[in-house]
Amino acid sequence: MIRTHDLDNYPLSCSSVLAIALIHRHVLSGRATTCRRWCDIALGVPLSPSRSDQKHPVLVIGGGIIGLATAYRLLETWPGTRVTVLEKETVVGSHQSGHNSGVLHAGLAYLPGSRKARLATAGIRLMRAFCERHGIAHDICGKVVVATSPDELPRLRSAMERGKANGLVGLEWLDAPALRELEPHARGIAALRVPEEGIVDYRAVCHALAAGIVERGGQIRLDSGVCALRRTGAASTAGWVAETTSGEIGGSFLVACAGLQSDRVARMAGEHPPVRIIPFRGEYYRLRPERVHLVRQLVYPLPDPAFPFLGVHFTRRVGGGVDCGPNAVLALAREGYDGRPGISLRDAGSALGYPGLWRFLRRHPGQSWHEVRQSLSRARFTQALQRLIPEVRSDDLVPGGAGVRAQAMHPDGTLEHDFIFVNAPASLHVVNAPSPGATASLAIAGEIVSQLA
Ligand SMILES: Cc1cc2nc3c(=O)[nH]c(=O)nc-3n(C[C@H](O)[C@H](O)[C@H](O)COP(=O)(O)OP(=O)(O)OC[C@H]3O[C@@H](n4cnc5c(N)ncnc54)[C@H](O)[C@@H]3O)c2cc1C
Repeated sequence: MIRTHDLDNYPLSCSSVLAIALIHRHVLSGRATTCRRWCDIALGVPLSPSRSDQKHPVLVIGGGIIGLATAYRLLETWPGTRVTVLEKETVVGSHQSGHNSGVLHAGLAYLPGSRKARLATAGIRLMRAFCERHGIAHDICGKVVVATSPDELPRLRSAMERGKANGLVGLEWLDAPALRELEPHARGIAALRVPEEGIVDYRAVCHALAAGIVERGGQIRLDSGVCALRRTGAASTAGWVAETTSGEIGGSFLVACAGLQSDRVARMAGEHPPVRIIPFRGEYYRLRPERVHLVRQLVYPLPDPAFPFLGVHFTRRVGGGVDCGPNAVLALAREGYDGRPGISLRDAGSALGYPGLWRFLRRHPGQSWHEVRQSLSRARFTQALQRLIPEVRSDDLVPGGAGVRAQAMHPDGTLEHDFIFVNAPASLHVVNAPSPGATASLAIAGEIVSQLA
């Protein structure tokens, strides 16, 4: 089992009336034991090089960045292994992997020694190398994390210590004049510069991974939504039949990386995840082109340790432009984007019928309401941005994109921030892979492959 976390964006829309803010409280401690017990089921039938002549392919469910990275690394580690990726959409990277902030996170604030810290730090290096090898546009522009009041200084220092402990290099403490030199429009009493971080287009990464899979003899079956999973054979010869919208396919081993549908796919395979996926939209604005000069790199507020994912910020895009956001509001559809969040009765029922969600909302009413109001009011959104860059005005902003985060929540209302893998006979399920899952995807895939050996 592994763990990690995070969040991001969306454009402000009328469904916000029904939206409820996401507040990420790091309440993992009490959950860790339960999860670990649940995840440490024996793998049963290991996938090893000796199985590379298997009759049936390894089935990877999900053509997002983690499923693709897993298939890619399987083929890299064990050339000749038969691998088929099953993706329900007609294009890879259609969900979280194609609707995110595009930031390469280096693991600054994560607990030293945690898997999240380890995989983010390893992941960003692997991702940079992958982009360089495949000519994928990226920009290691660096990030500044800004303290705007004296009470934030101790936390800024502690972030620096954590970053150093996690192996980040070149971290730099900036006083106010040094910050102004780097980011002339940002205002803060001090800041931390993280030079290793940057931006990339994760959709382009998904396409390069897909090309690499096919080049190595793997298959990607698009438009193939998995509707049912059946086990075949006895334990020693266990395998799977997946019923998909494009027909049945047999598999010797299953790796499920279904993102927003991960809990449902796990249940299809007979697992009983102790969490439910609650979707949270992240809404963005964009700066008008004539105002992008206000931001040179990535400008972030200091994360509140109680709610590490909240706090709108400024993110440059590799294709040009600057995104502002994201916020975090409850979504009533797991896969609703671009100003048309919509309502899926199934998804809304799943979220609103989950006692954990109501416990979460009872515990964090103030913050939830704050996010809703910020979502409904451009003026409030602008005020939050002005803490970092006072010159930003409401009419500098135009609605941007949106993404939906797959956030695992426990029945008692606590959020699961770590990566969760569930191992079961002849299968492995990635049940929770929040941000920086895209940055860490190649490292996560390496961890999955090593668990299958
Ligand atoms: C708004 C937002 C901003 C983010 N910003 C960042 C960032 O800046 N940096 C970062 O590192 N991370 C970021 N993240 C997190 C990152 O995007 C995710 O961790 C990562 O994309 C997860 O990848 P995945 O492959 O698990 O999921 P997905 O990309 O969601 O892929 C899952 C795939 O499974 C498919 N699928 C589901 N069910 C089935 C089925 N039954 N049959 C077949 N296929 C199925 C889906 O169609 C989908 O393509 C952000 C996330 C969001 C939402």
